[in-house]
Parts: sequence; C-alpha cells; structure tokens
Amino acid sequence: MVYIPKRYGQSRIDYCPFCEKQALVKNAQGVPVCSAHKNATIGEMKCICGGNLEIKEGKFGAFFLCDKCGPINMKKVLEINEVEAPEQKRDVASTKPKKEPQDELVVRGDDPYWCR
Ligand SMILES: [Zn+2]
Ligand SMILES: [Zn+2]
Repeated sequence: MVYIPKRYGQSRIDYCPFCEKQALVKNAQGVPVCSAHKNATIGEMKCICGGNLEIKEGKFGAFFLCDKCGPINMKKVLEINEVEAPEQKRDVASTKPKKEPQDELVVRGDDPYWCR
C-alpha cells in the first residue's frame, strides 16, 4: 500500500481580507486582495499576545511578524483583528447637495420708519 499525501498547497485560494471575495491581485503590502481593494492597505494589527504586528512579504505571501511570537499566519491575524474595509470613494457628481429653500429673514426691528 502506498500512501500518497494529498497536496493542497499548490491550489491555494486567497481571499480578500476586506470583503472575503477571491483575491486576484496584491496590494502595496503584498497582501492578496480582490481587484476592488487593490489600493487598500491593512492598518495596524494586534497579535494574540497584545503586541503590534509588522506586515511582511515572504516567499509564500504576506505574513505578520510579532516581536515576541515571531511570524504569524495572516489568516490567524485576521481572525483576531477586525479589518475595516476602506470607504469607497464615490463620484462627487452623484452626491449633489440638496438644494434647500432658504428662509427669508425679515428684520423689522431696525426699520427706521417703524414709528407711529
Ligand atoms: Zn475586496
Ligand atoms: Zn505576539
């Protein structure tokens, strides 16, 4: 009997940490992201120990490095940290301010002819 271990490593699918869609590109930090978030970057992440993590790009993709714990899998970090999706910039034209009717301010107190 020959035992053949299954290899999943080759067909790994990365997911965008911002929206959990399939990651197709990498952002500036080397983190796999979807095409919509290619300009987004991950902010400060905390380690399980409470320390700050530094983002690194390695041979097998991006990972986080803790002073105390060493390298930590990005998936793990994303599990314990909340990643906020950056707000998408909207077209300025679509958010036109509503034209509010201006109340006419009538000042009568200063009227010099207000005498009887
Ligand atoms: Zn995304
Ligand atoms: Zn740590």
